[in-house]
Amino acid sequence: MAFFTADLHLHTVLSGCAEGEMLPEFIIERAHALGLDLLAVTDHNACENAAAMMRAAQGTGIVIWPGMEVQSREEAHLLCLFDSLDQALAWQATVYASLPPLKNKPAVFGEQVILAEDGEPIGYNERLLATSTMLSVDEVVRGVAELGGLCVPAHVDRPAYSVIASLGFIPPDLDIPGVEISHLLGPKEARTKFPQLTRYGLISGSDAHRLNEMSRRTTLKMAHRTVAELRLALMGKCDRGVWVDGIRTTP
Ligand SMILES: [Zn+2]
Ligand SMILES: [Zn+2]
Repeated sequence: MAFFTADLHLHTVLSGCAEGEMLPEFIIERAHALGLDLLAVTDHNACENAAAMMRAAQGTGIVIWPGMEVQSREEAHLLCLFDSLDQALAWQATVYASLPPLKNKPAVFGEQVILAEDGEPIGYNERLLATSTMLSVDEVVRGVAELGGLCVPAHVDRPAYSVIASLGFIPPDLDIPGVEISHLLGPKEARTKFPQLTRYGLISGSDAHRLNEMSRRTTLKMAHRTVAELRLALMGKCDRGVWVDGIRTTP
């Protein structure tokens, strides 16, 4: 068992709202400076820059999980985390088939830059990515699990674009071991404000849209850096665990 410092919520230049500096080599450099061991790349409704992130991390000792931040039809954001690029790409096909056929308006929503595996920009994604898919929260959780991934509802304390904001609560039958809290509050405050969080493990990704927002608040005790291990860690199973700001958050 080992301790891993993680930031499991990061945007690259594929997210129109992210700064132009959110490029793989700079993200890895910043992660290295922060002492991060594990990152997830979670652009809005797309994973087209995951390959470039994985390539940039090669040889650094940092592990990258390809993923995305899906917006459900209820307007809730959900982190979808995978071990392999093939799993993430399969999920992306489902998500793209569930997005409305709208075009991005770069002047309003920002440019959505696609990077080749070597990190060079090769064009723009012309779909509108920053919008709701037709998938329900439940369909996202089940669809990601069917592919071997793990879904973690994002920034559940936020007053918009979160499961709690959209549905009013976290459906108790939703098959999730944990949720993400935002950078705005600590785990104790989160559970005071939302008592239902007591039954979930908590992580806190940075949701960085610029380099200086990246953070190392989350520590995972796991055997390996795999999403199956994260599931066990969020449940506090078999000597695994999760900490945010040094506070153990497993139920
Ligand atoms: Zn979000
Ligand atoms: Zn985000």
